Amino acid sequence: MANKTITGVCSDLTSEGKGVIKFINETIFVDGLLLGEKAEVEIIYRTKGVAYGKIVRLIEKSKDRIEPLCKISSSCGGCTFQNAIYEYELKYKKKKVEDALKRIGHIDVPVNDVIGMEDAYHYRNKIQVPFQRNGKDIIYGFYKAKTHKIIPNDECYIEDIRARDILKTIKSLMLSMKIEPYNEDNRSGVIRHVLIRTSYHYEDIMVVLVTNCDSFASRNNFVKALIERCPNITTVVQNINKRDTNVILGEEEKTLYGRGFIRDSILGINFNISSKSFFQVNPKQVEILYQKAFDLVGLTKNDRLLDAYSGVGTIGMIASQYVKDVTCVELEKSAHKNAVKNAKDNGIENINLINEDCTDYLVNTDDKFDVVIMDAPRKGSTPEFLNALVKNGPSKIAYISCNPATLARDLTYLVDDYEIKEVQPVDMFPRTYHTETIVALFKKEKK
Ligand code: SAH
Repeated sequence: MANKTITGVCSDLTSEGKGVIKFINETIFVDGLLLGEKAEVEIIYRTKGVAYGKIVRLIEKSKDRIEPLCKISSSCGGCTFQNAIYEYELKYKKKKVEDALKRIGHIDVPVNDVIGMEDAYHYRNKIQVPFQRNGKDIIYGFYKAKTHKIIPNDECYIEDIRARDILKTIKSLMLSMKIEPYNEDNRSGVIRHVLIRTSYHYEDIMVVLVTNCDSFASRNNFVKALIERCPNITTVVQNINKRDTNVILGEEEKTLYGRGFIRDSILGINFNISSKSFFQVNPKQVEILYQKAFDLVGLTKNDRLLDAYSGVGTIGMIASQYVKDVTCVELEKSAHKNAVKNAKDNGIENINLINEDCTDYLVNTDDKFDVVIMDAPRKGSTPEFLNALVKNGPSKIAYISCNPATLARDLTYLVDDYEIKEVQPVDMFPRTYHTETIVALFKKEKK
């Protein structure tokens, strides 16, 4: 009969920042347990050779442990490291990259210290919040990890502070104007989620009301009252999602107020961002990330640059000032459309914007590039893309990745022909376990 409660010491952390205890023949993952801490742990459940436990009593505390600012940080699932000093988190992120490179890529190269954020709170420029009825009240917050039960939350320490007042106002207007939140069980009600995007360099704020229907009673009055109470909102969009799905946004959208997008800028270049555009969530750190990537590959006026997985064209447009020309390739149509407008608005002419799958593009193109900056999604790139990249033969590559595991896997396709010059993690997601890394690769001299 397996133990229900055990006592052990945290000897490692998982790729999601959970503490690991090795106990007899079992590995136990424990939320919130810091490296070196000794704890009494209750086993919650067991699956496929691992057990999940929760701390019953801390017997020896880490010197790095702090009291979380956020009262619900242990249940919300958004943050992992609210209970530790920031240096602890940065050390963890560096080790996570080192471990992934070694274990998955069999690559043993030094990893630089993570570039952290000066003030590691209130950085997120995009939030998506579900709404639900709770008796006489309406609640909003976060889904408890792996459930659809909302944990009400009025104060989040990683979101832009301006978003919170807007959510409070939306809730009070929904109550007074009798606009029902969506009910997943019988698929009734109106408002499913509210998405808010805030601009860092401009005063722009976008509110997206994700609704279960095309229109709803008092819609115009609702928007009017919302703008009156929160005059910092510059645009309101209705996104219609009638499907029974976990995907937050539907296809169809109507602009109810303002221009339907917000502006922000990165390193002096302006961008229009719509509800669905991918845009880096940490506007302060993104400038550090991109500048570091440019410095690592050392762009020159003779270079032809490929910006692969280019989103709204952020990297390519900023880099266009330093190179001969840029080609941006992005699959998502709305992001590509934003990119076209962004290039025009910024008067950038040495740019070629392509709406295509990166692999299809690189396998078939006749263009040759001197430098490639690739910013692949979490699932990484494809063997076909990476082989085509080697064949294309740029002298320098910067691979930016938010997933050390797929990064390590993908690098194995490049290391025969390219030398890893530098591995530089940059903290884009403070207080969470998410880890962003730039790897600079230089083409090896042919012997
Ligand atoms: N470089 C951008 C976006 C990076 S996120 C920035 O920093 O803002 C990754 C982007 O890759 C997303 O915009 C996503 O839509 C796009 N993408 C995902 N799979 C793709 C594919 N197979 N081909 C082209 N683009 C893809």
